[in-house]
Amino acid sequence: MMKPENVVYMDNNATTRVAPEVLEVMLPYLQDYYGNPSSMHRFGGQVEAAVSQARKQVATLLGADPEEIVFTSCGTESDSTAIFSALQSFPDKRHIVTTRVEHPAVKNLCEQLDTLTGHKHRVTRLTVAADGTLDLQKYEEALDDDTAIVSVMWANNETGVIFPIAEMARMARERGILFHTDAVQAVGKIPIVLKDLDVDFLSLSGHKLHGPKGVGVLYVRRGTPFVPFLVGGHQEKGRRGGTENVASIVGLGRACELAAAHMAEENSRVKGLRDKLEQGLLSSIPHAILNGHKTDRLPNTSNISFEYVEGEAILLHMDQYNICASSGSACTSGSLEPSHVLRAMGVPFTAAHGSIRYSLSIYNTEEEIDFVLEKMPPIIAGLRQMSPFWKADA
Ligand SMILES: *Cc1c(COP(=O)(O)O)cnc(C)c1O
Repeated sequence: MMKPENVVYMDNNATTRVAPEVLEVMLPYLQDYYGNPSSMHRFGGQVEAAVSQARKQVATLLGADPEEIVFTSCGTESDSTAIFSALQSFPDKRHIVTTRVEHPAVKNLCEQLDTLTGHKHRVTRLTVAADGTLDLQKYEEALDDDTAIVSVMWANNETGVIFPIAEMARMARERGILFHTDAVQAVGKIPIVLKDLDVDFLSLSGHKLHGPKGVGVLYVRRGTPFVPFLVGGHQEKGRRGGTENVASIVGLGRACELAAAHMAEENSRVKGLRDKLEQGLLSSIPHAILNGHKTDRLPNTSNISFEYVEGEAILLHMDQYNICASSGSACTSGSLEPSHVLRAMGVPFTAAHGSIRYSLSIYNTEEEIDFVLEKMPPIIAGLRQMSPFWKADA
């Protein structure tokens, strides 16, 4: 096993380390306080109190009411719940508006919906500009009387690009259309105040903000028509059946509290580290290109294409130094396909294949940035020496 203390972890958009403060509050609920929050006895009641406190902590981070918070098993479940709920609430409406750059949790669901509902639905997938941003006029044109729901991510997991959610939600509300945002990457990284917005549904996931895996939240605005996805007991006020994942819920609550307390100061530090890494890579490595808008972006994410080399090969070399990141191409069915996000942005073939996503967290240090800045140029130069594309061009 790789020793965690030796790992330079820059893959935080994939998952994050559980904060020690989070683990600490979870342990009692995995050991001694195992009561069922739905039980009538006090032993269950005190567990219910812990779940209730976590609900308040999540609501505070989001500028929402505790009653609007529904605990789920993950971000993916929250996304599915919101979309299926809207379609069931408006059985006469057949249209969904989304984008070409959504996370697979929304993208693949929208692809499946056709089959699941007997070819009933029509999906508009908005494309993005070369810098990953959306055209609001095209969005407005896509909304019509038949639209049941809009589902647009708040921030992109691959590039970090942030969409203008406040404005988009307002435009949907004016037309009586429900608005869902997958905010899994945004929560804890940028301020969100839902009471000031026209967002009806918002998804978040514990393991993307230093909470545990296997817990998520769906925010459901008060008064929004709602149909549960998991039907069962009366948990979550009948909005999500299944005995609560208590320890994880308590951990997620604490993670939200930590994020609320540290967001402003920590995120500007993380952004400083990200900018140092990004500028260092772009200036020391020729033919390196930043993917995504330079400023309308999460503070922790940098997606850079190193032309004429394969992302997977770069990752393997980085792995030799225990540096963890992601590439923008995925090995699907044996062939290296550039990601749907980079394709939607029109990133050219030679660049899309060599893209690396560095995603930082509050646990990264300046020493780690220096280490990566030292290791990357020789890795890229070495791979280019072996690349037929590079030699042809150089
Ligand atoms: C990670 C992620 C998800 C999925 O969350 P899970 O809890 O892993 O199901 C959904 N959307 C985005 C943008 C993500 O980054």
